[in-house]
Amino acid sequence: MTLPRLTFVGTGYLGATYAVCFAELGYEVLGFDVDTAKIAALSDGVVPFHEPGLGVLLRRNLAAGRLRFTTSYAETADFGDIHFVCVGTPQRADDTGADLSYVESAVTGLARRLTRKALIVGKSTVPVGTAEWVQRLVDKHAPAGLGAEVAWSPEFLQEGFAVQDVLRPTRIVAGVRSDWAATMLSAAHRGVLDLAAREQREVPVVVTDFATAELVKVAANAFLATKISFINAMAEVCEAAGADVDQLARAIGHDPRIGSRFLRAGAGFGGGCLPKDLRAFQARAQELGVGESLRFLHEVDLINQRSRSRVLRRAAELLDCPTGPAGPDFGNTRVAVLGATFKPHSDDVRDSPALAIAAALSASGADVHVYDPEGMGNAARVHPNLIFEPGLEEAVRGSELVCVLTEWPEFSAADPVHLGRLAAGRLVVDGRNCLDVAAWTAAGWRYRGMGRHAEP
Ligand code: NAD
Repeated sequence: MTLPRLTFVGTGYLGATYAVCFAELGYEVLGFDVDTAKIAALSDGVVPFHEPGLGVLLRRNLAAGRLRFTTSYAETADFGDIHFVCVGTPQRADDTGADLSYVESAVTGLARRLTRKALIVGKSTVPVGTAEWVQRLVDKHAPAGLGAEVAWSPEFLQEGFAVQDVLRPTRIVAGVRSDWAATMLSAAHRGVLDLAAREQREVPVVVTDFATAELVKVAANAFLATKISFINAMAEVCEAAGADVDQLARAIGHDPRIGSRFLRAGAGFGGGCLPKDLRAFQARAQELGVGESLRFLHEVDLINQRSRSRVLRRAAELLDCPTGPAGPDFGNTRVAVLGATFKPHSDDVRDSPALAIAAALSASGADVHVYDPEGMGNAARVHPNLIFEPGLEEAVRGSELVCVLTEWPEFSAADPVHLGRLAAGRLVVDGRNCLDVAAWTAAGWRYRGMGRHAEP
């Protein structure tokens, strides 16, 4: 069988990475987006966001002629045997459910222009039941008699590791309704499976129904979010009891039933996925009449929000700020905020704890100076009122307090002796428990982590 021609509808973090990586695997690929600036950048070989390793692959595959980008629905519909829908599904403005308007416009725009039978595969994270609805949209809008079909194949990539995650996924989930759809989807994944075979790896493939495929993704995110909030709740208890959450996490993580990953206490989770997926999952469960079953996710969300305010409290405690009913008053104290992105190795500031805390510090009167290795452009667009510094040293210079809020290697590796000479006060809040406590305290800093002993 010749390789099917693939399109990726929506070329954001997910779709652009997929388009590039699948071209790298040998497929002919067309990326489509309604954002003309994004398509122009990608066509010029420029990745419009930070993702390690992606730019080289983009330029290689553009040059090889396997990869193109367009803003034309008609060209996209005509090109593809399989269309992957990778558009955003943000939280709705008026409640906690998922906004499916981008999915609707993408699917409708595409379906209307189909010229032959094709498979439309949802990759966006959606509430359970969406695939059924998308199939109805396709049936309604595609020219009669084409028999276009829908499948759902949720995505688990992590920003910062996206190239590796797409080329070498931990599993493939395929929600399908027919043998034809299963065969087509398997042809689309042949490149990934062949690569795994060459590298003598196994990639588990779970072929299932629409609803299970959709739920796998939100269940996985709910589990990960719960694990993070669990350890952050333990950090609160450790603080009250005088225990150390890092040691606790290490000790429980040795149990293979628990595992050590996602057990790092800190300022909590953020980004364009976990928070909104958690809320949309609860909203959907409510609609399905099983809201009670997911009530604990509300608590997971609350613990996460509390992790952000705990950082603020640590900062106020260290600076000995007056605290009234409206919260602490930082009285124009200069504070260096290190980190703006929701995680390292990304420029994504969507629902970022670091940026939310920076904004809260500023709203409470602090003179906030932010530095992030990759996220400054995006952060400045969201919070133009904050001061952004060109480097770590510029941010720290003259600051009374340093808050480390994203775990960039540049911050963990920074020399506390040198930074101590630049800062006006040697006070540090380690919102990611990523600094070497012994080294920082030896350099004269008063250190506060998250549920972590302040002394080595
Ligand atoms: P994003 O905002 O970076 O990209 C979405 C893209 O869709 C944008 O470029 C936008 O212009 C485009 N778009 C909107 N309407 C369109 C339309 N009608 N036709 C074509 N393009 C359109 O979002 P993202 O982070 O790539 O996420 C996309 C989906 O993937 C979401 O459902 C998200 O939850 C899911 N997801 C994301 C990740 C991740 O790490 N970013 C991981 C797994 C799943």
